[in-house]
Amino acid sequence: MIPIAVPLLTDEEADAARAVVLSGWVSQGPQVAAFEREFAALVGAPHACAVSNCTTALQLALAALDIGTGDEVITVSHSFIATANVIRHQGATPVFVDIDPETYNLDCTRLVEAITERTRAIIAVHQMGMPCDMAALLPIARRHGIAVIEDAACAAGSQIRMNGAWEPIGKPHGDIACFSFHPRKVITTGEGGMLTTANAELDRKFKLLRQHGMSVPDTVRHNSSSVIFEKYVVLGYNYRMTDIQAAIGRKQLERLSELIARRRAVAARYVEQLGNVEGLRLPGEPHWARSNWQSYCIRLPERFDQRTVMQNLLEKGIATRRGIMCSHREIPYERANQRHDLRQSEIAQDRSLLLPVFPQIREEDQLHVTNCLKAELNRIR
Ligand SMILES: *Cc1c(COP(=O)(O)O)cnc(C)c1O
Repeated sequence: MIPIAVPLLTDEEADAARAVVLSGWVSQGPQVAAFEREFAALVGAPHACAVSNCTTALQLALAALDIGTGDEVITVSHSFIATANVIRHQGATPVFVDIDPETYNLDCTRLVEAITERTRAIIAVHQMGMPCDMAALLPIARRHGIAVIEDAACAAGSQIRMNGAWEPIGKPHGDIACFSFHPRKVITTGEGGMLTTANAELDRKFKLLRQHGMSVPDTVRHNSSSVIFEKYVVLGYNYRMTDIQAAIGRKQLERLSELIARRRAVAARYVEQLGNVEGLRLPGEPHWARSNWQSYCIRLPERFDQRTVMQNLLEKGIATRRGIMCSHREIPYERANQRHDLRQSEIAQDRSLLLPVFPQIREEDQLHVTNCLKAELNRIR
């Protein structure tokens, strides 16, 4: 069986986790602090805050911006459902905008029509690792005084050309960027997330909120020679990452550029092998974007049934996934008032297919994937 994705974890990660297990401190502590410093340095962000996953990161981003009941947040329906759910959990209303079918990201030409006097933020998703067009989005948000949160769950190691230079996603270009370390992403800690920001006050809020609003963290009290009584100064949460996860994350971070180089090679082979299959649309990078190829998403010609193609590939030992979901088609969103046309989002979900992509995929396995896909497309010609 050729899986859709496999994390690349080795003895180095296992040894790092083992050392923490035996160290006497396994919850959020020195490893988390080091992981934050190293992640911030890597993406060029002044501040980073590690949390339990990207869903909690996105929720803290909204909470730190005081977004709640009565507020609207513009985002895409075409994303993992967590992007929309966090807005609802804060008591705010998600306003869905359609995607650009080329990048599978928010279509910035539709942004202005979605802005109302209640709009407080935009969550811009860098879907499947492909950067969203921040050069188009940011001036619109600034002109309207709207905060920008980047859902960079899939985008660790992706780059965007801004002001004439290549910059990592996470710098951040908006106010806050949120990353995921779930095993389906490019680097993993099992579960985990990270917020980056250039705003020290926001970073201070993230760090308070993730730890019950506790004024003096346990690490500080543990290392103090005098007795300290903490206070609980805001209504917080427990969204901490453990030191075991952070130690694994630090090893993963060391490998990030190698992992992406290997993913880029996999994507290049897909172009080589599938580039001239009639009617099949391969993903392309705009001239201002470099994807980390977290996913490789192809668009089937119209005459094919997505489920049948996927089933036939599965029977040949190849795992695929359908295109990115649309939140507005799921039960919790059934009764939401959908203001804007989402046709491109729906077409993308119904006609796209994710092919296996992971750094250690063998060339012969990839060839098997492309040969079986071509045979399948020829069969119904
Ligand atoms: C995976 C993902 C999330 C959620 O990340 P978790 O770490 O699993 O909470 C959010 N948004 C997008 C776009 C994702 O792909």
